[in-house]
Amino acid sequence: MADEQTKTKLNFIQQIIEDDLANCLNDGRVHTRFPPEPNGYLHIGHAKSICLNFGLATHYNGKCNLRFDDTNPTKEESEYVESIKEDVTWLGFDWEDRLYFASDYFQCLYDHALTLIKNGKAFVCDLNLEDMRHNRGTLTSPGLESPYRNRDVAENLDLFDRMRKGEFPDGSRTLRAKIDMAAANMNMRDPVMYRVLHAAHHRTGDDWCIYPMYDWAHGLEDSIEGITHSICTLEFEDHRPLYDWFLDQLGVHHPKQIEFARLELNYTVMSKRKLLELVEGGYVSGWDDPRMPTISAMRRRGYPASAIREFCARIGVAKVKGVVDIALLQHCVRDDLNKSSLRVMGVIDPLKVVIENFPQDVVEEMDAVNNPEDPSAGTRKVPFSRVLYIERGDFMEDPPRKFFRLAPGREVRLRYGYFITCTEVIKNDAGDVLELRCTYDPATRGGDSPDGRKVKGTLHWVSHTSAIDAQVRLYDHLFNVVSPLDVPEGGDFKDNLNPDSLQVLSGCKLEPSVKNAKPGDRLQFERMGYFCVDPDSTEAQLVFNRTLTLKDPWAKKQKKQG
Ligand code: ATP
Ligand code: MG
Repeated sequence: MADEQTKTKLNFIQQIIEDDLANCLNDGRVHTRFPPEPNGYLHIGHAKSICLNFGLATHYNGKCNLRFDDTNPTKEESEYVESIKEDVTWLGFDWEDRLYFASDYFQCLYDHALTLIKNGKAFVCDLNLEDMRHNRGTLTSPGLESPYRNRDVAENLDLFDRMRKGEFPDGSRTLRAKIDMAAANMNMRDPVMYRVLHAAHHRTGDDWCIYPMYDWAHGLEDSIEGITHSICTLEFEDHRPLYDWFLDQLGVHHPKQIEFARLELNYTVMSKRKLLELVEGGYVSGWDDPRMPTISAMRRRGYPASAIREFCARIGVAKVKGVVDIALLQHCVRDDLNKSSLRVMGVIDPLKVVIENFPQDVVEEMDAVNNPEDPSAGTRKVPFSRVLYIERGDFMEDPPRKFFRLAPGREVRLRYGYFITCTEVIKNDAGDVLELRCTYDPATRGGDSPDGRKVKGTLHWVSHTSAIDAQVRLYDHLFNVVSPLDVPEGGDFKDNLNPDSLQVLSGCKLEPSVKNAKPGDRLQFERMGYFCVDPDSTEAQLVFNRTLTLKDPWAKKQKKQG
């Protein structure tokens, strides 16, 4: 894989790292990590973080860990762990032998907590959550100290030990850091480090009935792994003083935390909690429904990993929030597929055409180019016969002036085939067009005009002989507004779901060369877009997802802007 981070000038994170390297910080080591919580499938925002963390490690000859932040037993599942591993690998990154779980550090975190208690820096608190919240104060007023704050070390050690042994019910006691209830930064107001939670964990089972809070665990996990640069999103900026406090109190390795703006995309909802709501509510077929912004959905839809990496490289990293146009992501996908995908002809909404002057039992083999962008891809044979299919939308009985495709009396080119002229329209009683009768000009074989005669339209087509039947699924934005989370009072983001985001077409006709296509294979159907074989395909029927149409609004906009 090309080192995508070398293409652009230094971003602010690279600048920080280069300064650190120049100052011989961490003995010149660069060690990053990607730390997902296994409570859902990864989305395109995570891809940004993955490309950034693994990319930096590659670029600076360092290392990047994959670490599951599995400190919350009630929301986490092994299914998510497996999907995340698959997605990171598919994106082209390798954690080598550095696959870690926060749950591996539960004992170590517990021991560190004991140290803080012994040093008078943590205490067991008997307030319930509600009282604690009440005593926390506000942004403008200080909080109230807990009445349990001044318990002595021996009592704290005893109570914490009994918390761990399971003597207390859920929510009855917590271990809190003893910092400053008047701190301007609310995160410093004696935050909770441990809560009692009698819940089985996907890896440690029933070993623990107290679980560390994210803020207590996260900075320490990075420290334990010797991470040099802890890269995270902006919402953790206010938590940094707390992580610093914990690490300084313990006197352990202190990674440098760097925050960047999370990726947001228009027409898209990115939060795992909301995506889970869509999955559980049956609004989509699953986490990998091709309309979802997840990596697994994009893979299924046909987005190449290289296109996603290119997108992440192009958006770069910044300190300020911004919303990226989804058209840019789609442009990267089109750009990639245009170079790499083989062309075939497929008619997704077929209209039968009979060429009356073409002999009954003859099948001609026409030469078709596999990829005009890549001559080495060669050519293939496509059968041409008396009965074939064209796209229903390529015919109009009574066309407006600017319609250059087929109409009664009009001549068009069938790509790689012949010129044909429509001579008759056959309809049912209701007036629906059932089939067209045409004639062809044998002198135009291959679609070339011998006498310089011009035709304006060139259509794709599929011969009836050996045509392959397929189902095709067409997609549009899952949400039909630019900012799906902007909802009026009392509204719900799901009100913004696009009712027309999925269209399923059966009885599509494809040229025989696609017969052996396998799930995951990507093709361009000429004029109709990029398509990818779906895993729902069976022996009896291929199923294709339309990855994208060919039209590229992003490229068009760039061109306009010069
Ligand atoms: P979400 O809020 O979407 O549910 P999360 O931040 O809770 O995501 P984590 O599993 O905690 O998800 O994230 C793992 C890593 O991915 C974190 O380092 C986080 O900062 C990063 N990340 C998550 N969402 C984005 C995003 N939209 N853009 C960039 N990085 C992200
Ligand atoms: Mg999270």
